[in-house]
Amino acid sequence: MSLGGGKRSGKLFEQAKRVTPGGVHSPVRAFRAVGGTPVFMVSAKGAYLRDADGKSYVDFVGSWGPAILGHAHPAVTRAVQKAAAKGLSFGTPHEGEVELSRLICRMVPSVKKVRFCNSGTEATMSCLRLARGFTGRNGIVKFSGCYHGHSDALLVAAGSGALTLGRPDSAGVTPGAVEDTHVLPFNDSGAAERLFARRGAEIAAVLVEPIPANAGLILPIPGFLEKLRDLTGKHGSLLIFDEVMTGFRLAPGGAQQILAIRPDLSAFGKVIGGGLPVGAFGGRAEVMDHLAPEGPVYQAGTLSGNPMAVAAGLAQLRALAKGNIYRDLERTGAALEKMFREELGSAGWKDPFVRVGSMFCLFCRPGGEPVRKLEEARKCDTGRYARLFHGLLEKGVYFPPSQFETCFLSAAHGEKELEITRKALREAFRQA
Ligand SMILES: *Cc1c(COP(=O)(O)O)cnc(C)c1O
Repeated sequence: MSLGGGKRSGKLFEQAKRVTPGGVHSPVRAFRAVGGTPVFMVSAKGAYLRDADGKSYVDFVGSWGPAILGHAHPAVTRAVQKAAAKGLSFGTPHEGEVELSRLICRMVPSVKKVRFCNSGTEATMSCLRLARGFTGRNGIVKFSGCYHGHSDALLVAAGSGALTLGRPDSAGVTPGAVEDTHVLPFNDSGAAERLFARRGAEIAAVLVEPIPANAGLILPIPGFLEKLRDLTGKHGSLLIFDEVMTGFRLAPGGAQQILAIRPDLSAFGKVIGGGLPVGAFGGRAEVMDHLAPEGPVYQAGTLSGNPMAVAAGLAQLRALAKGNIYRDLERTGAALEKMFREELGSAGWKDPFVRVGSMFCLFCRPGGEPVRKLEEARKCDTGRYARLFHGLLEKGVYFPPSQFETCFLSAAHGEKELEITRKALREAFRQA
């Protein structure tokens, strides 16, 4: 039995493997965690993906987050086409950068100044350098299961693809690169308190996904992030929220808005680029002014603030800033949750379902509680998830090819897509 993509996908994958390691350009796309052949896509529109064999899927990956308005949204596509006709890159400042920066500062009140880069990885990496340059300290704190991209200092106990592969510490990362990285369990205020009591004066920054979405979807226990805010403030460290996933997705002001916590710095990506490669970071003006050319912390990029990427981001954020999209996403999310719980119930499945706004995750952990930290995520039955994944895929519903990723809804998902998903789930639950 062949699982996953059809004939054409299979052929492309064979060719890809000859010229690219594992046949993919980012590990989780390879389907290693669920088995079978990855599906090669040829187009995407609204809530749907279309593969190389002509089959359509209701998409719950949304390019891993960016496609919050749905794929190929007319406003975003038009903006990119218009920008492309005016030149792909100038290598100089341009008006779009100013507009997008101002819009970001308006939507996220903790951000007084912002700098663009080209990926979420660059955003978090640059935040760390800035925090170290600003505080004159070396130590950083991260939490196990949180993923912040693939820069050396952060590739310890990371989530996402690193977790899927069971190789949280990458080969090629020197012990020196991570010796200043302290890893703590998420949702454990006591552990953070103990570390700060011993080493507080050495810690430049605490970096955290406020709502971790790279080891499944994990909700912060009330008081945990407040404790981090409190500890960093007391010890002169910076609190950095990695909102690459949650920024502009959960609310105009991201997770920090719904949690009412103000970090010193925030990292963005995904939604901010409307599907083009963009990252950004920003925060307190006196911290940001430590960046070159204003200050001593070097950070740069040939294509940073690329006119097409900025145009896509502007079109997408403008639509998000003015519409009722978050209210609509919450309504669709609530309907999806109700549908999931009904189908889980009638199938006799007792696996926890977690949702916040347009992000959700089913943990294949029969009878278990929703995951609160990485150690619990590790107990998931990944074989059960793989069977569920392939059951859905076969019925034309595209879920992330790993238990440890989060599913996304877009503004293009509606009743019709939920109905397709309900039927697919019913079958898939029976088979898994
Ligand atoms: C995806 C992600 C990153 C990395 O972003 P890239 O654009 O893939 O480099 C960093 N942090 C979080 C929370 C992410 O979800």
